[in-house]
Amino acid sequence: MNRKKIVAGNWKMNKTLSEAIELMSGILKNPGDNSVTKIVFPPYPVISAITNFVGASGSFSTGAQNCSEHASGAFTGEVSAAIIKSIGCKYVLVGHSERRQYFGETNAISSKKIKLALENKLNVIYCIGETLAERKANTHFDVVKTQLTEALQGIDPTNIIIAYEPVWAIGTGETATQAQAQEMHAHIRVCLKNLFNSDVANNTPILYGGSCNAQNAAELFACPDIDGGLIGGASLKADDFCKIIRSF
Ligand code: PEP
Repeated sequence: MNRKKIVAGNWKMNKTLSEAIELMSGILKNPGDNSVTKIVFPPYPVISAITNFVGASGSFSTGAQNCSEHASGAFTGEVSAAIIKSIGCKYVLVGHSERRQYFGETNAISSKKIKLALENKLNVIYCIGETLAERKANTHFDVVKTQLTEALQGIDPTNIIIAYEPVWAIGTGETATQAQAQEMHAHIRVCLKNLFNSDVANNTPILYGGSCNAQNAAELFACPDIDGGLIGGASLKADDFCKIIRSF
């Protein structure tokens, strides 16, 4: 088993064009070694500029934070997987908890997006995770299992990365403990084994996300089933993001 190590920065709805270039040039000053796959997810209008900016360095890939559940057509304001692919992106985030919470994205919608992304040869980071109420009710393992099953059933999992992001830890400063994160990542591998097979369970990278930062990344990345991080807030500061990349 030789899973990829991955650190991905989700910039969310932050950074104007000039701010994004400034952030990326800061990151490129200290990009870490090539053993880590590094990805940034800028806001849509800024992706092309960042893709071109990092192009020469070859050390970073870019991705989109979302894609449409439709292939093309009259869907004002939406962006298709094909368009995302056409501007040089290699990745797309699907099912982020903010998409689920604020834009009504269900597992079924995530599934449609994943299919279109894969058809367009994009790699998918599929985000899953329970709310605080679900953890308190002790349903967190079932919630995550359902998120995996409903979105991934019948899909070729080869180009899928999972990000486990407990909703209660996203942007709150409250991180899952090493034990909580490892326990859930191990559970996700069992779900992947049941849904697909042992090879898929062993080879699929599973990232942790939720207030992961330069101080706690090393402890989390040391867990046997954690293959890296999906980073929100701390990816907006070049020094912190570069420290996280060097936390393996
Ligand atoms: C995220 O939104 O994917 C995330 C992990 O955010 P933060 O690191 O800010 O908690």
